[in-house]
Order: sequence, then C-alpha cells, then structure tokens
Amino acid sequence: MTERKIREELTKYAAKSVAKGLVVGPGGNISARSGEFMYLSPSGFALEDIEPHQWVPVHIPTGEIGDTDFRPSSEVLMHLFCYRANPLLQAIVHTHPAYCIALTLVDDELPMLFPDQAALVGDVAFIPYVVPTTDKLAHLVAEKADRYSSMLLKNHGLVTTGKNLREAYYRTEVMEESAKIYMIAKSVGEPRRLTEEEYKEIQGLESEAYRVQLLQNMKE
Ligand code: 13P
Ligand code: ZN
Repeated sequence: MTERKIREELTKYAAKSVAKGLVVGPGGNISARSGEFMYLSPSGFALEDIEPHQWVPVHIPTGEIGDTDFRPSSEVLMHLFCYRANPLLQAIVHTHPAYCIALTLVDDELPMLFPDQAALVGDVAFIPYVVPTTDKLAHLVAEKADRYSSMLLKNHGLVTTGKNLREAYYRTEVMEESAKIYMIAKSVGEPRRLTEEEYKEIQGLESEAYRVQLLQNMKE
C-alpha cells in the first residue's frame, strides 16, 4: 500500500473510532505499518481531527521519528514493541471504549458469548494496570501481542491488532459489543457462555473463515 493510501486509511478509521463512541476527547491512538515504518497518530489530537498529512512516520527498527511537525503518540513504545514482537501485525488500534473499561474494573475475564466474538475476536488478554505511556506498559502489551489480537488494559482501555487496519478496527467494535452484551446480561442473571466445543465449532466454520478473510483482503 502506498504511503498516501495508508494515511487516508488511518484518517478514515480514526474518524470512525470517534463516530462510534469508541474513544472521546484526545484519547486513543492508531497506527499502521508500511515496510520498515509505522504511521502513528500525533499525541494529544482528537482522532477525528487528524488530517492525512499529520500521521507521524516512525522507523520501526530504530525508533527514529521521521519528518513531522508533531510529537508521536505518547504510546509510541507500545506500538513499536508490538510491531517488533510480531512481524504479522500491520495495524494497531488503541481506544478507551466505555464498556471495555467498565468490564476491567469489575472482572478479569470476558467469556465467549456469541458467534462474531468467537470468529473475529477470539481469546482476550487482560493486562494489569500500569501507568499509561510507560515502557512497562509497552512491554506488557508486546509480550501478549504474539498470541492475542485483543488486549484489555485494566482501568485504561483496549488494544486490538490486525493484518490490516480494517481487521484491527472491527476487532475493537466487536470487543466493545462483547463487553456491552456481557455487562448487560450479567446485571440481570448468569450469562450462558459458549462451550469450548461450540467456540471451536464456530472458528472451524468455512462460512466464518470466508467472512474473516474478506475483512482482511477486501479492496478499499
Ligand atoms: P496520545 O494522545 O499521546 O496518543 O495518548 C492517548 C492515550 O490513549 C494514552 O494512553
Ligand atoms: Zn490510552
């Protein structure tokens, strides 16, 4: 993908994150990888206000910041360490969705509840609370980024990754929906969770594999 296309894509999904209420104010950060570089949101911007030319290039092997008028996101290490830890990752979305955060305040697990969650999200990692923007947080998230594509940061927010920006973004949407459904159900009774067998059955469906593949390969 060309640099121009990546900048346009990032701008589109950043705006979507705010429109869908997945983050408010100047919270959250988003990046996508292109070769040896990642393009990352500038620090302190409301994601919907970032213009295509304002995404900050960062050289992944060295951490050097490319030519820019802005400071990269204060979570730059989290993005960098994840890309270094898992070469398959092409995009990272970090948001502060209300139900996801609320869930981390009261619980340490998100059970498997419904088919889209099983197919598009899968197992979720819980990262203990540590001060945002620190290399400690960056290391904890990167350690999980090999095995998990959705990570809940306790008392903070959510990180999702993907083989492209669309996949990482829709994981965020489905994660927030899953947390919402879980919290609603739990407030009135004991939610029925999918059994391990039902979960694996969904992941093995050819029809689900097609939908996931479409998400990864669809032309913009
Ligand atoms: P930035 O504006 O520096 O990206 O910080 C937002 C955030 O979510 C920190 O965790
Ligand atoms: Zn944050």
